[in-house]
Amino acid sequence: VRASLTAASTGPGATKDGHAVPLLANIGGPKDVRAALEAGAEGVGLYRTEFLFLDRATPPSDAEQEAAYRTVLEAFPQGKVVVRALDAGADKPLAFLPPPGQEPNPALGERGLRMLMRHPEVLSAQLGALARAAAGLTVRLEVMAPMVTDVAEARAFAAACAEAGIDHPGIMIEVPAAALRAGDLAPEVEFFSVGTNDLTQYACAADRQIGALARLQDAWQPAVLDLVALTAEAAADTERGCGVCGEAAADPMLACVLVGLGVTSLSMSAPSLPLVRAVLARHTLAECRRAAVAARSARSADEARAAARSELPALA
Ligand code: PEP
Ligand code: MG
Repeated sequence: VRASLTAASTGPGATKDGHAVPLLANIGGPKDVRAALEAGAEGVGLYRTEFLFLDRATPPSDAEQEAAYRTVLEAFPQGKVVVRALDAGADKPLAFLPPPGQEPNPALGERGLRMLMRHPEVLSAQLGALARAAAGLTVRLEVMAPMVTDVAEARAFAAACAEAGIDHPGIMIEVPAAALRAGDLAPEVEFFSVGTNDLTQYACAADRQIGALARLQDAWQPAVLDLVALTAEAAADTERGCGVCGEAAADPMLACVLVGLGVTSLSMSAPSLPLVRAVLARHTLAECRRAAVAARSARSADEARAAARSELPALA
């Protein structure tokens, strides 16, 4: 089935009736660019910059950062590249940025943008390197902050971007508070990108690193679908893009549901792209919307899967 579905999978992402859904790649650095291009990614939807900072006692130099970013940006002259500002802490601890004290719950501690606000020099160095790396290139550079909770944080990040000459600031929606009040956050930035891995972790209060909690760490949980829907609605109301860059985007059936909820682009690891592209191309936007309504009407993750499947003929 997989082979027959993906056989004709090329070109930009779109539903059967031509509703465009850009399909982007999640990358960890220049080494992942080739796979993204080979899979036909229209750009990068999540560049996890942490890898440049891992396993070292001091941050990479400005020149080293600029060189890595430039290599990635140059690879997508026609597309866009969404770079995530350093997401340190919790499941991504960095030796040179330890939390200020012992954190009993690192996932609820000083991580992501919270950490960058404590160390503004790290953020401004990264944004400066990105601005220099993009100078003179045709690629559209967007930069987003991880782990944003409220308006003050979104505003502070947008201000830091403006100061560094970054024109397109966005925020990840990974915290339920941010999803619930996405309408308040939208005016502060240009776009949202939903991180369903963390959004699910926080919505279901289930640590993403604890395998025994896998049943709850499931983006098909109707509560998670509701949070994505609220985010996408707030984005549509304010004419902002709303991507998804968590693992959920790589599940072909869930990808259709996300599009039906109003998500405007999907970003995933390169190997997942062809199947998602193929399944999306076999369903109309109306079918995706019906699948989304059906999934949100369910009372469990399994029921949501079954309900969505029954509305998606190529998967039924
Ligand atoms: C997410 O949380 O869904 C996400 C894309 O970011 P990460 O997995 O790197 O935390
Ligand atoms: Mg995350």
